[in-house]
Amino acid sequence: MICIPIVANNLEDALHDTAEASKVADIVELRIDYIKNVDLKRLLEKCTKPVIVTNRPVREGGKFDGSEEERIELLKLALQLQADYVDVEHDSIQHICRGTGRLAHTNKTKLIVSYHNFRETPGDLTDIYKRLSQSGVDIVKIVTYANSITDNVRIYQLLKQSQMPMISFCMGELGIISRILYKRFGSYLTFASLRTGKESAPGQISIHELLNTYQAQKQDKQSSIYGLIGNPVAHSISPIIHNTLFKEMNFNSVYVPFKVDNIGEFIKEFRGLDVKGYSVTIPHKESVVKYLDAVDPIAKKIGAVNTIVNRGGQLVGFNTDCEAAIKVLEGVNQVCSKGERSFVLTKDVHLKGKKVTLIGAGGVARAIAFGLKERQAQITIINRNYERAQSLARDVGCLCKKFDDLQALDTDILINATPVGMFPKINETPFDKNKLKSNMIVFDTIYNPIETKLLHDAKTQGCKTINGLSMFIHQAAAQFKLWTGQMPSVEIIEKIACEKLTMG
Ligand code: NAP
Repeated sequence: MICIPIVANNLEDALHDTAEASKVADIVELRIDYIKNVDLKRLLEKCTKPVIVTNRPVREGGKFDGSEEERIELLKLALQLQADYVDVEHDSIQHICRGTGRLAHTNKTKLIVSYHNFRETPGDLTDIYKRLSQSGVDIVKIVTYANSITDNVRIYQLLKQSQMPMISFCMGELGIISRILYKRFGSYLTFASLRTGKESAPGQISIHELLNTYQAQKQDKQSSIYGLIGNPVAHSISPIIHNTLFKEMNFNSVYVPFKVDNIGEFIKEFRGLDVKGYSVTIPHKESVVKYLDAVDPIAKKIGAVNTIVNRGGQLVGFNTDCEAAIKVLEGVNQVCSKGERSFVLTKDVHLKGKKVTLIGAGGVARAIAFGLKERQAQITIINRNYERAQSLARDVGCLCKKFDDLQALDTDILINATPVGMFPKINETPFDKNKLKSNMIVFDTIYNPIETKLLHDAKTQGCKTINGLSMFIHQAAAQFKLWTGQMPSVEIIEKIACEKLTMG
């Protein structure tokens, strides 16, 4: 079930938001601690969906700043008015329940005993659960703050052990996945805001995002989990693409973003969640390799993985960037900016013998360099960190130059495999506009924005251009096929990606 909290600070707005929330939520939470001069009877009468009444004190992250007696009286009133659920804080539950004996008028109401920790996910979760579950209530609620993505796994394990209905998730940006995957985790419900700006706690996503991007209504306990490992991941278009493909192709699967700092710890801890597949992005494509059980020979040669497949508990790494980049360079349809389709710009580019300058020596650059080498192109690697350029050039068997030499290079094809020019720093470019020549092909691997400053300059100078979106689409399709065995429609991926990127 999805619950929308009502966080209006006056009765009129609360009535309005409750009516709006009732159209889309399964349950509405009346946060009466937000409302000045609350008329609880009127609010409950107006609710068409089941209601949780919550009167959170400041000490538990709420807004109620009156006396404890007044606060408890309002909760008792909610019980008298037979609200569907009443949330009582763990340190006040003795006012409502004594052992297993409840106040007389609690029979029709489900009691939730709640514990909130806005600082951390503490080590003694099981003890907290035991204490709360013995307080004579119907539902236990434990909400903590995620300081590490692996805190979500601890919440998952707690939910798995629970003997009674339980609401549990992590707050904060790192806890978002526990809110999205609530059915798979086994939480009684999750909270979503009515819209952006109406959150009642950190990390709460909007009902729109939960239903549309993550297809929350379609998930269940059996849903397979997939996700993107990277940092940052918040602006990635991969969740909307893969979740739409799962929906269109009838897979009971969900794809979520994993913001990861410590890749080794993440891979180890998340094995317990049986994630079926990962995409891997900046900065983990190379560092993840040593934590996998097996690596496909091409990815091994490249030394970078952008796709992981869980084969019966064995994590196997692949690289779909290499094939996708070479495909677009060799001339597939070009995907263009602002929703229009452009013409075939790079049909039949023969890479053999072409002088290619590759800016970057990270995961994507490695994949492209090995693909170009197979096509016998003459490659020069340029990277900010020269030692890294030297190392890649050695591995591939090609030239490398210092970053300062970039503008002086004579080249047929220029490729940017760095984030220079990527959203939000869209006015940056790695290459001087005046050094671009009309006979050059310029390929920017960045796909957000679709037309980077580098590509804009290149077009102005008469160069042929290839954007990163075309590569992104092909690597995503190949990734989906590795996970599911089925090739998705490249047109659907292109449509979703163009819509999402041009909408901003
Ligand atoms: P990565 O492994 O972290 O490597 C980043 C590379 O960019 C390194 O060579 C780094 O140089 C260089 N770099 C970073 N900031 C720079 C700066 N301010 N000035 C100059 N160089 C800088 O990342 P990656 O996974 O290879 O991704 C690189 C780019 O590829 C991303 O920006 C992304 O947009 C794009 N990409 C595209 C697709 C697609 O399908 N189109 C897929 C994945 C990624 P140092 O070694 O000196 O740090």
